[in-house]
Amino acid sequence: MFTFHSIQDYHQALSEKVCTCEDAVRHYLDRIEAGRHLNAYVQVYGEEALERARALDAKRRAGEKPGRLHGVVIGLKDVIAYKDHPLTAASRILKDFTSIYNATAVDKLIREDAILIGHLNCDEFAMGSTNENSAYGKVLNARDLNRVPGGSSGGSAVAVQAGLCMVSLGSDTGGSVRQPADFCGILGLKPTYGRVSRYGLIAYASSFDQIGIFGRTTPDVARVLDVIAGEDDFDSTVAKGRSATFPDLTGEPDKKYRIAYFKEALTHPGLDPEIRDTLLDCLEGLRNEGHTVEAVDFDLLDYIVPAYYVLTTAEASSNLARFDGVKYGYRTQDPDLELTEFYKRTRSEGFGTEVKRRILLGTFVLSAGYYDAYFTKAQQVRKMLVDRTDLIFKDFDIIVLPTSPTTAFPIGEKMDDPIAMYLADIYTVYANLVGIPGISIPLFTHTNGMPFGMQAMTSRFKELPLLQFSHLIMQQYKSYENPTLCD
Ligand code: GLN
Repeated sequence: MFTFHSIQDYHQALSEKVCTCEDAVRHYLDRIEAGRHLNAYVQVYGEEALERARALDAKRRAGEKPGRLHGVVIGLKDVIAYKDHPLTAASRILKDFTSIYNATAVDKLIREDAILIGHLNCDEFAMGSTNENSAYGKVLNARDLNRVPGGSSGGSAVAVQAGLCMVSLGSDTGGSVRQPADFCGILGLKPTYGRVSRYGLIAYASSFDQIGIFGRTTPDVARVLDVIAGEDDFDSTVAKGRSATFPDLTGEPDKKYRIAYFKEALTHPGLDPEIRDTLLDCLEGLRNEGHTVEAVDFDLLDYIVPAYYVLTTAEASSNLARFDGVKYGYRTQDPDLELTEFYKRTRSEGFGTEVKRRILLGTFVLSAGYYDAYFTKAQQVRKMLVDRTDLIFKDFDIIVLPTSPTTAFPIGEKMDDPIAMYLADIYTVYANLVGIPGISIPLFTHTNGMPFGMQAMTSRFKELPLLQFSHLIMQQYKSYENPTLCD
């Protein structure tokens, strides 16, 4: 029987001829079939994946040098373009759309011999925190089928949690990789803004969006990051000259980190007391091991969520203007409409409720008379957050926060209350506002049986220490023998 622990172990097994890439793909296709009820995949490219696996097996046998992701079975969130494959952002407005090019990240995966097995469910246009806003229906948390998996990259998280692929890609604009990772008991990394090309990622809020990685081990996440990171002529926001090689995560096992946490974040009334106490215990443990752990004042906490929702909806209202029924995607059926009515009808029918809410909100905050009160103000908050963050990283290596104020909640619980849903993003949107990398590290299990993690962040382009720290703490908490995974 095929089992997966890490990419390194898998590669060892391939070289010892214990298994083949074809065995791996067959295993995942069986698992995907058995996990249909989870609704994680919206497309499965089974035949193609098998064919590619056989080609890779032949290549290996012929003695050709294997790529860094040789035979690694990967799922893609349905906002990442894969040439000649459907791409819909889980929206009716992109029904039957097929991508005509590869995202740069996808090109890079393929170049390193990865096997792309399918597209994964998500909230429509990556807007949401539960994966309930999808044209394909909700995704279930494999740990408890009555609970949400988080979102917006819910399918990507569940695919790794339930063993339906080895690693997956998602996108993170305000927490959509870290929060579902937290709810599902796996690792979720949002890289620095500008680390990974956004070319071929369907835009939600372009100054926040970043492709992120779900995995079970830090070395796996590091390896995928190493492959997909780096400059790209198609995306001028990718930083130049930042080499991203993450060779050895055990590099500095004795390093003592300077760790900050925000006092206001851990005393926040919305935070589950058990999550708070567990994190404080964990920080105390780190202190006892000789790391510096200090609470810092962070009086800007209450401004984070409003600033995020003003700026991202503004960007979204502009980005989503291209979906008009003329160029591609869904088009309203009535042939006799005049043009404005045609646009209105197409967009009213094509977009779901949450996406429409955000387009309206974004259009409002950008409109004459309100622009300064909302958009300009939110930009000022963003600047203050960046300045404050720079100051904190003068004295500290890492900022620790909860990933989410609660564990995965029951399906439907927050669907009628968008404000409550938005407020639950309080701990994740910060990293996107300031562009720093963040990771949710699976460490704990709540007495309600659900997993939860710790969120760690470093300054821009410091993914290596972030992953080294994550590796260290996962080893301490024995997360690699993770009981929350559902194989
Ligand atoms: N939950 C947040 C939102 O709805 C984050 C989404 C994301 O990161 N794509 O905007």
